[in-house]
Amino acid sequence: MKNVAVIGAGTMGNGIAHTFAQSGFKVQLIDISDAALKRGIDTITKNLDRMVAKEKITEAQKEETLANITTYTSINEGVEYAGLVVEAATENIDLKLKIFKQLDEACPEDTILATNTSSISITQIAAVTSRPEMVIGMHFMNPVPIMKLVEIIRGYNTSDEVTNTIMEMSRTLGKVPVEVNDYPGFVANRILMPMLNESIETLYNGVAGVQEIDTVMKLGMAHPMGPLQLADFIGLDVCLSILNVMYDGFKNPKYAPCPLLVNMVRAGKLGVKSGEGFYDYSESRKAEKVAKQFLK
Ligand code: NAD
Repeated sequence: MKNVAVIGAGTMGNGIAHTFAQSGFKVQLIDISDAALKRGIDTITKNLDRMVAKEKITEAQKEETLANITTYTSINEGVEYAGLVVEAATENIDLKLKIFKQLDEACPEDTILATNTSSISITQIAAVTSRPEMVIGMHFMNPVPIMKLVEIIRGYNTSDEVTNTIMEMSRTLGKVPVEVNDYPGFVANRILMPMLNESIETLYNGVAGVQEIDTVMKLGMAHPMGPLQLADFIGLDVCLSILNVMYDGFKNPKYAPCPLLVNMVRAGKLGVKSGEGFYDYSESRKAEKVAKQFLK
């Protein structure tokens, strides 16, 4: 299996394409517009440049990696030779169901169809295809070229053969695959999201401030970043949508999103991507920080 199609060239898609291409796979990277593909390739190039500067790869390896990636704006063109498709399009159930129906029709019958979804049921996605035994979750972590874990999610019908192939392929990429079953939040988000939600609840209840909560978890639990800052990095809208999937899926109030999280998302405070969440990431704030450094 040497040809891998990646659907979506956003944050995760470009990282997944980069990782496969650097391991020698021919990658067909597919998005809806040339602009999205250009952004994806620019990010891959920037990340490879950084690896060259750190002497982790050579200039020749960078060029080989880029030469392994071909871009397409249509699923029908990009997938005809793919042994594996990894879908990393926007986290929206209707969109994913539409893409998987299309992939099922366009791909050869032995192509494995994987999704990088953070929370949508693999079994539900598989059910719209004629090959549910060949549909699997391949949940990479962000940033993909750096993070070692891949959560491999078996849908209700995923076969042992497909699971073993994807576990082995993940190892070929230098990753550590972990096999889990298809229940809301899988393992990573089922454990992470309640912790982030509880940190927001702790703030909402006035037990402590943002800095205090993050410092307790950073210094007390040796976490590399505090939970509120991590929520800002993931995106508060993404956290809310994953919590809602778990709340709906288990019908258990312990997964109910904190009202403060709901309000912040309604107010457009989505974290780093919107310039403000629990912390301020706006340009003016950045400028202020630079000015302070300069005055020191
Ligand atoms: P993103 O918004 O950065 O990128 C999504 C890309 O999908 C965009 O470039 C968009 O143009 C493209 N797209 C939309 N419709 C498409 C279509 N019909 N065909 C082809 N491309 C299409 O999103 P992201 O953060 O990269 O997330 C992608 C997936 O990865 C989601 O399922 C998300 O839950 C999952 N995920 C995200 C993270 C994270 O930290 N961001 C981590 C793990 C998993």
